[in-house]
Amino acid sequence: MKIVIVGASLSGLAAAVKSRQLYPESSITIIEKSSQLAAVPMALEWLFKSNEGEVPSYFDLLEQLKTLQVDYFLNHEVQSIDPAQKRLSLRGAQVSQLSYDCLIVATGSTQKSHYIKGGHHPGVLLCKDDMVRLEENPLFVRAKEVALIGGGQLGLRLSEKCQSLGKHVHLFEAGEHLDFKHCDADMAALLETSMVESGLNLYLSHRVQKIEKCHDHFLILTKSAKRSVDVVLMCAGLRPNTHFLEDQHILANDGTIPVNAFLETKLPQVFAVGDTIKLDFLQENDPRYLPLINTAIRTGEIAAYNLNGPRIAIEPSVKLVSGYYYGWFRTAIGMTSDEAELFQEIAVITYKGSLTHDRGEELRMKLIVSRETGQLLGAQLLSAMDCSYLLQCLVQPIRLGMTDLEIAFQDFLMTVGQTNPFYHLHKALLMSASAREV
Ligand SMILES: Cc1cc2nc3c(=O)[nH]c(=O)nc-3n(C[C@H](O)[C@H](O)[C@H](O)COP(=O)(O)OP(=O)(O)OC[C@H]3O[C@@H](n4cnc5c(N)ncnc54)[C@H](O)[C@@H]3O)c2cc1C
Repeated sequence: MKIVIVGASLSGLAAAVKSRQLYPESSITIIEKSSQLAAVPMALEWLFKSNEGEVPSYFDLLEQLKTLQVDYFLNHEVQSIDPAQKRLSLRGAQVSQLSYDCLIVATGSTQKSHYIKGGHHPGVLLCKDDMVRLEENPLFVRAKEVALIGGGQLGLRLSEKCQSLGKHVHLFEAGEHLDFKHCDADMAALLETSMVESGLNLYLSHRVQKIEKCHDHFLILTKSAKRSVDVVLMCAGLRPNTHFLEDQHILANDGTIPVNAFLETKLPQVFAVGDTIKLDFLQENDPRYLPLINTAIRTGEIAAYNLNGPRIAIEPSVKLVSGYYYGWFRTAIGMTSDEAELFQEIAVITYKGSLTHDRGEELRMKLIVSRETGQLLGAQLLSAMDCSYLLQCLVQPIRLGMTDLEIAFQDFLMTVGQTNPFYHLHKALLMSASAREV
């Protein structure tokens, strides 16, 4: 079997490694348009490293691919596909055509900001493309005042990074609070307070309408504010990067590639993974665009399993996310209360606990449940220590539609002399049942 994978980032590499394990006799080729395997730059911890020597050996993916006997063509871009002939046309120095038996489209996402006038000025940096070696970018190096547009996960992560590099950061967010896809306003407020205390200028409810280039600086214009900065980082607008499939008439309106539960597209023996597709959210037939690392890895591997015929179906996602921002470990799963109350009457519980007896390190947990059934719909957690595994444990309960009481009375460990964070979850779930007057 001849397996071709387009895109050598997280989903493409996951598909390649799993394919090699499952089909030892097959030929596997990865096509990547950039000059390097993108998984390294996407590993955020390394985004700002300028010295190759600092990258640890386990990131030496080229060597790993050679060991696995996976062929790769860097600097080769797939231009079009001929599904009848099972052939790809490429732009690159070594090959211009490549045939396949099975094709995995792992071309990920791109950043678009059509709604902001001036968003495409060459001086406006895109977090997707320009973050690698940002420290060496002369625009960024010279900059003192930096504007970040978008207060989601990307903006949160990069604003702290820019501050750590000595920049004065202005973060613009159109919504009323940060991180609105994953957190409610009261939870986001804790992050916002920490950010402002660190010296960041936060502009909430400020939709950036225009970016003007004036000599050596930029003007950021919103309805009610005007801010002059030296450099602009776009941290919003990830969209599927699927334009080479436009002439196949298979794309959804938003550019995603429709797939079935086995990640098969409408084209024979063509699979799509990672940031090119939507996944059902919580239940079947409710697809959402969830550009996340775990989606990329899972879908890459599942596609590999299904190359010889349907074997593993992808489960709906529960949108589990985690990150460390401004002294807080923030984890979230399922629906926010804003999302949940669109569909039903909900009960919302905010639980505060202390993780350590002596230092009083804080844990705040929010649970969102159906008032009628007690079914857990979502949870959010902010903590001074990493307790993200508490919400990882809620993946199956949320998927299975378990209630607060059913989850509360599952086994959990208690060891003498230690406060187990699971006990906090247990107590929060019981509070939820009380709030529903059970
Ligand atoms: C700055 C930043 C921070 C992020 N932080 C997090 C985080 O903390 N947690 C999290 O879960 N997610 C995070 N994400 C999202 C996560 O990185 C993506 O969901 C993930 O990288 C998707 O992987 P992918 O393989 O589907 O696509 P991509 O990583 O987008 O890779 C696609 C690859 O395909 C190549 N390609 C595209 N078109 C062609 C073509 N025609 N021919 C050949 N090659 C092509 C591209 O060059 C690229 O290498 C972040 C994203 C960004 C931009």
